Amino acid sequence: MRVPLTTRDFIDRAELVYGDRVGIVDEPMQPADPLGELTYREVARRARAIAAGLDALGVGEGERVAVVSHNSARLLELLYAVPSYGRVLVPVNFRLSAAEFDYIVEHCGASVLLIDPEIEPQLSGITAPHRFLLGEEYESGLLRFDAEPRPWSAPDEDSTATINYTSGTTARPKGVQMTHRNEWVNATTFGMHMQVSDRDVYMHTLPMFHCNGWGLPYTSAALGVKQVPIRKIDGAEILRRVQQHGVTLMAGAPAVWNAVLDAAAEWDGEVPGRGQVRIVVAGAAPPSRTIARVEEELGWEFNQIYGLTETAPLLTVNRPRAEYDDLSPLDRAKALSRAGVPALGTQLSTNESGEVLARGNTVLAGYWENPEASAEALDGGWFHTGDGGSVDEGGYLTISDRKKDVIITGGENVSSIEVEDVVFSHPSVAEVAVIGVPDEKWGEMVTALVVLAEGASATEAEIIAHCRTRIAGYKAPKRVEFRDAIPRTATGKIQKFKLRESFAPPAD
Ligand code: AMP
Repeated sequence: MRVPLTTRDFIDRAELVYGDRVGIVDEPMQPADPLGELTYREVARRARAIAAGLDALGVGEGERVAVVSHNSARLLELLYAVPSYGRVLVPVNFRLSAAEFDYIVEHCGASVLLIDPEIEPQLSGITAPHRFLLGEEYESGLLRFDAEPRPWSAPDEDSTATINYTSGTTARPKGVQMTHRNEWVNATTFGMHMQVSDRDVYMHTLPMFHCNGWGLPYTSAALGVKQVPIRKIDGAEILRRVQQHGVTLMAGAPAVWNAVLDAAAEWDGEVPGRGQVRIVVAGAAPPSRTIARVEEELGWEFNQIYGLTETAPLLTVNRPRAEYDDLSPLDRAKALSRAGVPALGTQLSTNESGEVLARGNTVLAGYWENPEASAEALDGGWFHTGDGGSVDEGGYLTISDRKKDVIITGGENVSSIEVEDVVFSHPSVAEVAVIGVPDEKWGEMVTALVVLAEGASATEAEIIAHCRTRIAGYKAPKRVEFRDAIPRTATGKIQKFKLRESFAPPAD
């Protein structure tokens, strides 16, 4: 028998098996009316009400619903409501500028736009056929509790469930098409490898727009895991909520755990969650010192995964397996600093240039309306990650460098070309190269090397301010260095790795 694997399975199971349990604890502090504690029965009922509301608006199967929001129950429920009935959810990065957001709404052809009231002031000019502010307008204008939603006419696991826009090597972000099958396989294998159980409490320290919160909303629903969204990353606030809600599982980039470590140093009394909490880290190779500190100072279990938005994300996993038990803290941290071994059903390889290639059921269907980029990424039947890496005798992958011209700062991708375009639009700039410089806090810091035009002048602050009005703040250079020339190869290419080498790596 073949039954399509669709994301609806996860919320259906939550309702059937864990209907009475609190499924989501909404953010208490937010501009919209908080939803408080929602049982999984209530989450499922609201998801149906959203789908019925979309029916009433005439939003058909395959149409796109874009949402831009900080983490909240309303953003989370859309991951269940929208794809379950054959529509496509487009969760957008809330840090983007209005122009960037406008491009995405336009490119995906969104029929519906849902906006967090906190972000609305920046996005007031952006329209779509239907537009609701999350909160009262959404509750009374969209949700229809008086009607049953029309079922998806022909559920298909290969159809697109979500589109996640991600910055790559091009100036414009690309829309990663995740199918229901991608999401299903990611959520179940992730749950298995991280040994998620119905005793877990999961806190969303990861922005949910990023790769659908790594698919963990689906894993959590299937197993009745209580989910606690947090809107803003703050180390002390994370610790307080771990204590308040008995959180056992969290995920995020190294920058999140650095914030928690700083807050723990000031924390009065025993750090909450000692011996209870497991964290899953990805986005950048964490220094082994951070790993050792997480285990010693917090007493939290450290797990690493590696993957991309294009791979749902799970490709590899590195858990503190039984064999690590007898290692010294330093050797254990070293073992855990590798990206990991392939998740079940994933195959990894490297090509002659050392680029990591992957095959598996979590790999994207393609980029939305971008056949050239899709063909390039999937050339030869393997997904090209753009990361350089090597595999040791134990089969463990270590990511050593990045072949693609992408900077990862605070866990978010930034296209160097996009930033270069913006710096270059400053009238005093003759030449620019943008690179990621290793940085303790951000992983990498967006840094612009600038050659000024003959007779022109500009200060670092002026160039940064120029960028901040045009692109998201996190993409703007944090540092600008003026140079007389930017070294190039004989063919005129800038060798970014050489530029990066002139900056010291972070201490490990
Ligand atoms: P994104 O698509 O925004 O999730 O970013 C994916 C990129 O993050 C990958 O291509 C890698 O460059 C980087 N990355 C993710 N996980 C790891 C890891 N465990 N170690 C090193 N880099 C990682």
